[in-house]
Amino acid sequence: MKLLFIGPPGSGKGTQAARVADRLGIPHISTGEMFRQHVSKGTGLGRHVQALMESGEYVPDEITTRMLEQRLTEADVAPGFILDGFPRTTAQAEQLDEMLGSAPLDRVISLEVSNDDLMGRMLARGRADDTRGTIRRRLEVYQSQTAPLLEFYASRDLIEPVDGSGPIDQITERIMAALR
Ligand code: AMP
Repeated sequence: MKLLFIGPPGSGKGTQAARVADRLGIPHISTGEMFRQHVSKGTGLGRHVQALMESGEYVPDEITTRMLEQRLTEADVAPGFILDGFPRTTAQAEQLDEMLGSAPLDRVISLEVSNDDLMGRMLARGRADDTRGTIRRRLEVYQSQTAPLLEFYASRDLIEPVDGSGPIDQITERIMAALR
């Protein structure tokens, strides 16, 4: 099963993608997490993307797409995977289509959370890129760059909207039910 989790920053998509991947026994692929690992190891790529991430901007498509493409060549992805945070732009979505070829995404989980909840959750998790100004910028970038993907996948009838509010366990159960 090839799944994509889409949701605004703070929607809990990373947490839920990890939990559902665990349940389904498939890898969880988070481009944000991959970038954070590069930053913490101080690799060349990490140094290149750190400032962008900390200001709430996206990493250029070319860099992100190349990293993801590499990941999808690894053997563990054969039975399926959950993509979390990629694609985030229409250009990335088109690239993903090319990468997946004749075995495209099966379903797109869209996590829906109110704006007030998003800000509160991000301030609570206290990640390096979670300061008030950056959060506002990330929400703007999400609206302009990533929200259009919901239309892109809705036109293929792939979207499963899931209420992302309430206790973590309940949200996981809602997603599992949407996938059944
Ligand atoms: P996330 O953990 O998904 O919230 O991602 C954290 C940050 O990594 C984002 O705010 C971007 O700066 C960068 N990033 C992650 N995935 C992508 C992507 N698909 N395209 C561009 N930038 C990304």
